[in-house]
Amino acid sequence: MKYDCVIVGAGLAGATSARLLAEAGLSVIVVEVKRHIAGQCYDYKDESGITIHKYGPHIFHTQKKEIWDFVNRFSEFSDYQHRVLSYAEGQYYKFPINRDTVNSLFGLNLKAEDVTPFFKKQVEIAKFDSSLKSFRDVVVSQVGERLYKVFFESYTRKQWSCNPADLSGSLAGRIPIRTNTDDRYFSDPYQGIPTKGYTAMVDNMLDHEKIHILSGCDYFSIKDQISFSNLIVYTGLLDRFFDYQYGHLQYRSVDIKLKTLDMQSYLPVAVVNYPNDYDWTRITEFKKLTGEDSLQKTVVCYEYPKAKGDPFYTVPTEDNLRKRILYMNEAEKLERSNNYLFIGRLAEYQYYNMDRVIEVAKNKIEKWLSK
Ligand code: UDP
Repeated sequence: MKYDCVIVGAGLAGATSARLLAEAGLSVIVVEVKRHIAGQCYDYKDESGITIHKYGPHIFHTQKKEIWDFVNRFSEFSDYQHRVLSYAEGQYYKFPINRDTVNSLFGLNLKAEDVTPFFKKQVEIAKFDSSLKSFRDVVVSQVGERLYKVFFESYTRKQWSCNPADLSGSLAGRIPIRTNTDDRYFSDPYQGIPTKGYTAMVDNMLDHEKIHILSGCDYFSIKDQISFSNLIVYTGLLDRFFDYQYGHLQYRSVDIKLKTLDMQSYLPVAVVNYPNDYDWTRITEFKKLTGEDSLQKTVVCYEYPKAKGDPFYTVPTEDNLRKRILYMNEAEKLERSNNYLFIGRLAEYQYYNMDRVIEVAKNKIEKWLSK
């Protein structure tokens, strides 16, 4: 078999890369170990006609028009705006924290201009390390200890199975803290869900005469049989590529438990977080993401984080980030040879969102093509 480019992985990183290379006239083979495409955003319709996100809820959002225009080439998007409630101390709160959250939790009636001084007071009476290296310290430095304890501490322990003081402060940047009453999960101007699903979107990305797909096949077991002349785009596990020479990087997995219920509606919104109660972190009611109308049926998904299993997340502890640098140095050496690119959440060991994966793939491939 001879192709110009070999892409390892048919998720968003692989599909974006394959598409751009094929459009530049190069022949591409995509080797995917799973029996389906679309990676962790794979979805399917179940017998009740509801679209299930097999690996947990995926909501597309981006600040960048260029990325929005790119994904819109391959799918229409709904205008869904993601809203989440957090169930704590026996009631639902708006989450991320905004003025309504503060007023409900503290039984106050703060006006817009009162919220920043309120956070300031909470922070003044809190203890934290002002170097702001850890997730705990960053959150406490923004909202104080009470809000941190109710909404972040136990959720984070459940999600990562470690002390929030041992996780990188950068993790806190994922969750906005608001003083207004905006209750959307993401502030990005472009948000939505592909109307026919992510699998269909990725299928359209890969639908090109220059792209061939080999699924259910582990790249490492066939790599000696594929000859290529130009480029390998690797989107799999970073440490595996280098034979774990600097030790194993940690990944976090999730047990997804689905339940079909004979009722029209189960949750007040598509996703409810459970920071303190139960073993699951959150429940998603899929029809509320997609707007699908399924009479007297709904499907919900419980997420139980776990150590072993399919890698969903990279784990931002000091030890992992130190090892990541060693591996990325090796990856960058290979990239400089112009025969390899490492792209995506697993291959760069980065907690990327979907839009960022596409952006990095576009940047790296366009730069490679320009050489
Ligand atoms: N987080 C939290 N409480 C919440 C939601 C999130 O403490 O109710 C923390 C937690 O550490 C989580 C991180 O913020 O892992 C990022 O949350 P996000 O919702 O972005 O996670 P994802 O959707 O990627 O699983």
